[in-house]
Amino acid sequence: MRLGCIADDFTGATDLAGLLRRSGANVRLHLGHPSTDADGSADIEIIALKCRTEPVIVAVSACEKAAQWLMEHGAEKLYWKYCSTFDSTCLGNIGPVAEALIELTGQKQAVYCPAFPENGRSVFMGHLFVGNELLSESSLKDHPLTPMTDSNLVRVLEPQVQGSVGLWSRIDQQTAKPFPTTTHVIADAVEFSDLEHLIKQIPDSVLLTGGSALAMPIPDSMGLSKSRKAPNPITRSRAIILSGSCSEMTRKQVNEWTSKYPSYKLNPLELDPQALTQCLTWFANQGQSTCLIYATDNPESVKTSQKVLGVTEAGERIEAAMGFVAQTAYAHGVRQFVVAGGETSGAVTQALGIKEVVVGDEICPGVPWVYGGPSDDPIALALKSGNFGSNKFFTDALEVLLQS
Ligand code: ADP
Repeated sequence: MRLGCIADDFTGATDLAGLLRRSGANVRLHLGHPSTDADGSADIEIIALKCRTEPVIVAVSACEKAAQWLMEHGAEKLYWKYCSTFDSTCLGNIGPVAEALIELTGQKQAVYCPAFPENGRSVFMGHLFVGNELLSESSLKDHPLTPMTDSNLVRVLEPQVQGSVGLWSRIDQQTAKPFPTTTHVIADAVEFSDLEHLIKQIPDSVLLTGGSALAMPIPDSMGLSKSRKAPNPITRSRAIILSGSCSEMTRKQVNEWTSKYPSYKLNPLELDPQALTQCLTWFANQGQSTCLIYATDNPESVKTSQKVLGVTEAGERIEAAMGFVAQTAYAHGVRQFVVAGGETSGAVTQALGIKEVVVGDEICPGVPWVYGGPSDDPIALALKSGNFGSNKFFTDALEVLLQS
């Protein structure tokens, strides 16, 4: 291995894997800590954790353990990947994990750049934009677990870290001002060429952290790019779509699907064993059709469920249900899973016992198909975080799989 990456959720990790795979380098993705027989032999090894919303102490120790494995297996460089919308709270994990990794690697500083220009995420003057809107005015302000109400990343990061926080603005970069001396540096990037520039300019003594896009120029900079990719495994079976994301884009994708194809809605307030059995009976009665089972709802309904159940309980109820539905679908022969939602994807892959995947073709920027399970009976998974994909993401995903 040459490059080792740690991601704070599963869909973020597949997003990173898909983009790094574009280089042609072979990319292996571990869902959770690598198993004891993992050998770290891919050019790029990514460890996907589910620690975005864990208490700081838990997240830091999980990331330290992952970093140690990567370094022991040859990683020359580490990358800490989080969401391109900087999802975290003031008690959040982005800064504390970076501080722990700086310590572990012996580096001196960390740079933070969540920009993902191809997906409309840009950072300018330290402010994060989602498309044309400031982060705090985008739908991310209503996220069920990490509502983002401040777009100024210097301000968002400050309460998370011990060290000083500064900004390397685009203007400073373009006028060749030196890299700031603060321990933590938010870096602007609006276009992909800005990210390439950052990777070229940032000294080795700086820990690289960001969304998936900042990692894209790294394989090239390390001489890992290759011209031929290995073929994808083949799965031919019934497919299922599971959606626990309540993001604006997922709501559009769910609306698009439900208007045409079989769909079943789960409500966290009514989600007892009987309701789940009803859902599974419905699924079993749909023949070979691809069905959507979803908890996706509008912000008002999400708030109502959270008020009654509490944020954690509402989320966990849905995640547990999605995991159980996935296991039942697998028992019915399903080997193709399209999953919407970062946390939801974590719950589904855990329920299916998938520990490690190889990375296949991209459905849209940031979402590749990945393949896990036994090599003679592989499982294909499309793990999409909230705001990714077009309105037709679910049908797009199935089409890409058919063609691969
Ligand atoms: P995203 O990628 O959009 O952030 P996630 O799956 O990571 O999606 O997070 C969505 C969270 O919201 C999950 O914990 C999920 O279980 C929870 N959730 C889903 N539907 C509802 C609902 N109707 N009410 C309350 N919480 C919900």
